[in-house]
Amino acid sequence: MTSPFGDRLMFIDGEMTPGASGEWVTSLNPATEEPIGRVPAASPEDVNAAIASAKAAQPAWAAKSIFERGALLRALAVEFRARAQDILTMEATDTGNTISKLGADVQIAAAYLEYFAGLATEMKGDTVPASPGNIHFSLREPYGVVARIVPFNHPFMFAGAHLASPLTAGNAVVVKTPETSPLTGSLLAECCKEVLPPGVVNIISGYGLPAGDTLVRHPAIHRIGFTGSVPTGLAIQRAAAETSVKHVSLELGGKNPLMVFPDADLDKVVDASIAGMNFSWAGQSCGSTSRILAHESVYDELVERVAARTDAVVVGDPLDPASEMGPVNSKGHYERVLGFVEGGRRDGAKLVAGGQRPTGDDFKKGYWLRPTAFADATMDMEVAREEIFGPVVAMLKWSTREEAVQMANATAYGLTAAIYTNDLQAAMTTAQEVESGYVWVNGVAQHYVGLPFGGVKNSGLGGEEALDELLSYTRTKTVNILLS
Ligand code: NAD
Repeated sequence: MTSPFGDRLMFIDGEMTPGASGEWVTSLNPATEEPIGRVPAASPEDVNAAIASAKAAQPAWAAKSIFERGALLRALAVEFRARAQDILTMEATDTGNTISKLGADVQIAAAYLEYFAGLATEMKGDTVPASPGNIHFSLREPYGVVARIVPFNHPFMFAGAHLASPLTAGNAVVVKTPETSPLTGSLLAECCKEVLPPGVVNIISGYGLPAGDTLVRHPAIHRIGFTGSVPTGLAIQRAAAETSVKHVSLELGGKNPLMVFPDADLDKVVDASIAGMNFSWAGQSCGSTSRILAHESVYDELVERVAARTDAVVVGDPLDPASEMGPVNSKGHYERVLGFVEGGRRDGAKLVAGGQRPTGDDFKKGYWLRPTAFADATMDMEVAREEIFGPVVAMLKWSTREEAVQMANATAYGLTAAIYTNDLQAAMTTAQEVESGYVWVNGVAQHYVGLPFGGVKNSGLGGEEALDELLSYTRTKTVNILLS
């Protein structure tokens, strides 16, 4: 291979390995469509080897004190930071995410290792005065081997951060990286190899079928943490249920409303409409506020200002610090996003920004789309209802607060919602009525450590980034000591 990143290997039983299949997944730079490296396509045999290794390593890992495990997780965070430049260059090239904002991904992954390591003493049980003279209490124990399956939009951040809670709880982990943008999985593996005992973390690459599916179905796996799309989440629930009883948590998609009330500060709303769309990742973020629901009194002004700001987003090479948006992640996904843009036009939404490939020699190849905004969408249009997971925002108009809430709730999703108003009554009532797992009032995009992030309805099951996540990687045992 002459591609810049070459052959990147999996990590099984403490060793970097191409695995047994002899098949590879080639990764293309989404900005140029050139091959940049490849990873093994794990076979069922590889997945089974990873699980066997994790199973063998887990008892000794769980037997370490929380201080020993915590020290190793903190050392892993140090490795992440030390390798940050390599990780970011590879990740920006492989995902198309812009390097200027991507630096946070390594810091976030490292910070979650440190945060969960520090929370270890919160893995508490209860004592209950259930009968006189006796002692009744509950304990928290690790599941054993857990699976974490991650999506393409922030592969290093998700895979790295998602080690923290299962490892703190004393589990061993098998990570499945995505089939597009898989390359930094190998750098994560190299960091783990430096710090952790062999087998405690195994990292496999390849396709959902057979690699992900084999992992999910394995009878030794009783805990699965999945981040990805709704159809895959549903497939995982079905597959898991066919083999053994498993605790499955799901972080899925969203079609998140940014709700603008008549009194909202429009300067802040216009900023939020850009920040909330996560254009730095070409809109490919589960939490993106891809529906702007604006009161009729501010709607026209907002459409004009959001269109102008969307048009002003600087599209360019993801490795150029001046770029504010790169390409869409992969060919298949690009075609899907273009299909939604076409659908919006066909359904009669008004295209007010973008909608085409940028012009110029830099954009002749690659999966480029200018940041795109539709106005006058209605909730019967797919551009207003479906997760596009691309740089496309839809704007809709409402007259009463009740109507706004009804529109916000009229999708199958329920991940995030942003409410812009200084009317306390309207903000609090709307925050209670909106069917979303994570709500901002006069804010957008930002996650706050210690607050559970997760969706309701088809956006998922189970909160992450908080104590809830750590506890979800433990199972409970009740002990009754009968003294009387
Ligand atoms: P995806 O569902 O296509 O793939 C995610 C992962 O699942 C990949 O590693 C893939 O190989 C694996 N997979 C596919 N089929 C499988 C199967 N049958 N069994 C086991 N594993 C399988 O998702 P994607 O396209 O990579 O990511 C985009 C989606 O992820 C969007 O819907 C986005 O909203 C969602 N997402 C959610 C969050 C969140 O926190 N809620 C965060 C990021 C992304």
